[in-house]
Amino acid sequence: MQAVMILVLAALALLAGCGRDDALDNVRDRGELRVVTRNSPTTYFFDKSGATGYEYALVRRLASELGVDLRITVAEDLPDLFRMLQRGEVDLAAAGLTLTAAREERFNASIPYGETPPIVIYRAGTFRPRSLSDLSDQPVLVAADSSHAQSLQALREGGHDDLVIRQEPLDSLDLMAMVDSQEAPFAVVDEAEFKVLQSLYPRLRVAMDLGSARPLAWYLPGDEGQQGLLDEVNAFLERMAESGELASMRERHYGHAAGVSRIGSHTFTRNMRNNLPRYRDMIRQVAREYRMDWHLLAAIAYQESHWNPRATSPTGVRGMMMLTRRTARELDIENRLDPLQSLRGGARYLMDLKRRLPRDIKDPDRTWLALAAYNVGMGHLEDARILTEAAGGDPNLWPDVREQLPKLQKSQFYRDTRYGYARGQEAVTYVQNIRHYYSILEWQDLAGQQPVPPIDIDRLLPDAARDLTLIAL
Ligand code: GLU
Repeated sequence: MQAVMILVLAALALLAGCGRDDALDNVRDRGELRVVTRNSPTTYFFDKSGATGYEYALVRRLASELGVDLRITVAEDLPDLFRMLQRGEVDLAAAGLTLTAAREERFNASIPYGETPPIVIYRAGTFRPRSLSDLSDQPVLVAADSSHAQSLQALREGGHDDLVIRQEPLDSLDLMAMVDSQEAPFAVVDEAEFKVLQSLYPRLRVAMDLGSARPLAWYLPGDEGQQGLLDEVNAFLERMAESGELASMRERHYGHAAGVSRIGSHTFTRNMRNNLPRYRDMIRQVAREYRMDWHLLAAIAYQESHWNPRATSPTGVRGMMMLTRRTARELDIENRLDPLQSLRGGARYLMDLKRRLPRDIKDPDRTWLALAAYNVGMGHLEDARILTEAAGGDPNLWPDVREQLPKLQKSQFYRDTRYGYARGQEAVTYVQNIRHYYSILEWQDLAGQQPVPPIDIDRLLPDAARDLTLIAL
């Protein structure tokens, strides 16, 4: 009898043990999928409609299909990410990670969900390496523990022993900033990341591909008991690829890079002549309702949509004032494509933001700061104002905050902020563009609404803004 009891207990213990070791059961029992990622524009960040990013969108979908919540942890850098995975503190790493043999030895890799070639980047006007031998003796910058560090190491061992590899515990966007500021002559990054970020660093160029496209994969911890979860992950990725959703998500999250271009002065003056007259009275009416300067409202509408009431961005932002679906819902807007509703929504949203700013911020800074919040979100603006104070600036003055906003794209700064990575440079460009359109519209109105001669916007930009890439839709 006693022997039977012991056997039963042993069997139960064994079963319990199995349960503990099965990753899929654990996720289901916990009701939560724990994912580690990087806080970067290609993976996971916050914009005006909340958390977003390609990897985030994918894992959120996976979690919902598994019927569990999603818990995102942001790694400081790649060594930190792999440490978390190694220790089993997370169930999955989804961070634009390349599939490599060395990683496959340590972890369970999913099937590939994309691919991208690694590229060598340099700054225009400096020496452009065209072959591996051109890279010798000068340090090549790579993210520590990255697939690129592994590839360069392999090349070194394969005979290119004059390659100098400089590994830094940074994200690829930091490496791009370092090449841009000439702290390093070259860096190796993924082409997919470079394309999204290139608009921020218009002086960076591709020197050459470092081999062919490499597959990207998600990683699960390396221990046994992962098979069930791995099968689920692979089946999910296969379904997403077959239905075409993987491709459309990629387009939605990476596609905006294609929308960035330099606007010529002619586009603006042409639009002012051809499109604005149709909406001028409507813009004036709405501006009067919200007690704001109609030139400002017109300038915002131009920056948002080029005065096109049917404008649509790949991220689903729509209409004359490019409102997100969520903002439109909050503002009780039924039809975002109706220019009157859209203008009213945008004006009200801006006025709300202005009201929410601390009382001691005076105009015009109040307007510029509210516009920055309109573009990047109030939380990120708050982060930038805190950074401004820390840097000895005045958080109530736009020129001081403007200097700090781009820091929200550098991990050494955004790491310690409350809301993390944000397209701070884009917010600066956004506000500066509107200010220029605003003043041009005012001038032309003062000139008695005569047809205006083409204006060279570049010439009107203050020095600091001249280098910026103007954001077009
Ligand atoms: N794909 C890279 C890796 O797996 C990370 C992204 C990059 O550094 O460009 O290490």
